[in-house]
Amino acid sequence: MPRIQQLPSHVITKIAAGEVIERPASVVKELLENSVDAGSTRIDIELEQGGTELIRIVDDGCGIAAEDLRLAFSSHATSKLQSADDLFNIHTMGFRGEALASIAGIGQVVLQSRPPEQENGAELRCDGGDFSELRPWGGSPGTRIEVRHLFYNVPVRKKFLKSIATELGHVSETVTRLALANPTLHLTLRHNGKLVYEIPATAGLADRIQLFFGGEIRDALLELDSGPGPMRLSGFIADPAEDRGNAKLQYLFVNGRWFRDRNLSHAFQEAYRGLLMTGRYAVGFLFLEVPPDSVDVNVHPTKSEVRFRDNSSVYSLVRGVVKARLLKANLVPKLQAPATPSDIPEGGETAWTMRTTPRPTRESLFSPRRGEAEETTTPWEVREYPVPASPPISQRPILPQPATLPTTVTPTVSPTVEPTIPASVSDSVNKPHCADVPLPQWDLPPLPVGAALQVHNAYIVLEDTDGMLVIDQHALHERILYEQLRRRIRDGKLEVQRLLIPEPIELPAEQAAAVIAAQAELTELGLEVSEFGGNTILLSSYPTLLSRRPPYEILQSVIDYLVTKDRPPVKEVLLDHLLATMACKAAVKAGDPLTQEEITYLLHLRTLAEDSHHCPHGRPTSLLFSRKDLDKQFKRI
Ligand code: ADP
Ligand code: MG
Repeated sequence: MPRIQQLPSHVITKIAAGEVIERPASVVKELLENSVDAGSTRIDIELEQGGTELIRIVDDGCGIAAEDLRLAFSSHATSKLQSADDLFNIHTMGFRGEALASIAGIGQVVLQSRPPEQENGAELRCDGGDFSELRPWGGSPGTRIEVRHLFYNVPVRKKFLKSIATELGHVSETVTRLALANPTLHLTLRHNGKLVYEIPATAGLADRIQLFFGGEIRDALLELDSGPGPMRLSGFIADPAEDRGNAKLQYLFVNGRWFRDRNLSHAFQEAYRGLLMTGRYAVGFLFLEVPPDSVDVNVHPTKSEVRFRDNSSVYSLVRGVVKARLLKANLVPKLQAPATPSDIPEGGETAWTMRTTPRPTRESLFSPRRGEAEETTTPWEVREYPVPASPPISQRPILPQPATLPTTVTPTVSPTVEPTIPASVSDSVNKPHCADVPLPQWDLPPLPVGAALQVHNAYIVLEDTDGMLVIDQHALHERILYEQLRRRIRDGKLEVQRLLIPEPIELPAEQAAAVIAAQAELTELGLEVSEFGGNTILLSSYPTLLSRRPPYEILQSVIDYLVTKDRPPVKEVLLDHLLATMACKAAVKAGDPLTQEEITYLLHLRTLAEDSHHCPHGRPTSLLFSRKDLDKQFKRI
């Protein structure tokens, strides 16, 4: 029988170090945080071999008194906490008092420090847990710490280290986060004697973003600030045209501390919903300021995750403020045509590219050569028709409804069409807004268009004063239905068609359970469901607006979404996803022939849409080929 024994302290230290110190970047992070806590205005970092051979950090902070040097290396020794209560009111980056102890257990450390008010400083060395004598040190005020041969006494750990370039990359990321969180700090990073970064104190946040991520991102930045309040969100987000294939350029900070949070990344992405294609990620640098007692920073060994007391308020703040900022921005999509025949790729197709600002597109939706759009190409502009100031037109579903079952309408409202603004941001956004006044069909405002023609039963080609507009009929109708549904649900005016005889639908067990679990949300969407027994559910109503498709098809489309694992945490967002799914299902499809009347109607509704540029999934709804650019392409001018 194995006997239980108390582990010796040097083993305990190594175990603790394993949690905190994974690689050179972890050492750099802990030391930088100490320098920031010490009130430093300048920090110089020097590395050799990605930090595996040497990490040297020099700061001009408050220093450590000679008599405290030894203590600084002990476990759970800190100047930042006095009592357990302080744990819930943290104003410093560090507070556990274990970083120096952990580092000293797995590297050879020299700590030199001099508080500015003292004439002389002192030096202490620690080699894998063994201490030297305290020696006088005559350096300048502040602290200088060197860590050599990381993991020299833990060979297994050393084996896990990656290439020098990779380790340097991790350090660089750590420095980036710290530099963004402390925009008045002077920072330098040197590697093997070469200067990697020099960030002067005068470089503000936008300058720092440019320094780390390039001028293209800087030009695309939109500043935001929720203003003072119990919680504040400020920082920069980027134009959706600067999207990326991963979420790495989504930086979150709370009270000056970088952190990772799936929930808030989701909120951020949600704010861009409809502006990004699936699988694309927005870029943003978001700074939260919250009362220290409303966030627990002591939930993760490396403090890279936090827990908010009120998660959903923070979620709503991020989503609401970012979304409002995007609505205020001018994100008019622009289409680019190639300037010269040589720009036409093999296969004869024209390399149309689309962008939302007059910059080269990095990864265009239309270019077969991703990321190679030329600055010299002619911009084709896609723009909105001016929104008429007149009241809205009367409304019927875009296509004739099948005169099906007798209906009871609950609640009964006069059908109208309206541009919508999400409830969370409607107050902060000054958008034209049409009142719910139904008008007879013949009062439709005249369309600012000439002839409109459906081609391939999929696109509507339209003459417009500036050129030729090509509209994706499905994407546009999807957007219109989505906005109509959203607005009506928000106003409690969703018109519902009741089935005289509820429709029994048999589903796989998992789907039936998901439907019943989401009963309340589905009712809000006009889909009333109840249990019938076994895996059969009864559908007894559906939104009248979606009556083009059989009710069970609409329900099935939302079921497919309900059973996915990645469901959003906030009900409002879930409803929004379901709305988009339903709108997509019910909208006219590519391949559906439209009558001239239906085309005209769709174009009217387009002028009233809040965002007529994108379908709810982010695809563009229309492209404009301007007369001028057509003339140019045909060498008329
Ligand atoms: P923590 O930061 O959690 O307190 P550390 O082990 O990182 O724990 O540091 C222990 C103590 O050493 C700190 O509380 C602080 O008083 C002191 N210290 C460490 N680094 C510095 C520094 N660069 N400047 C001034 N004091 C420091
Ligand atoms: Mg610390």
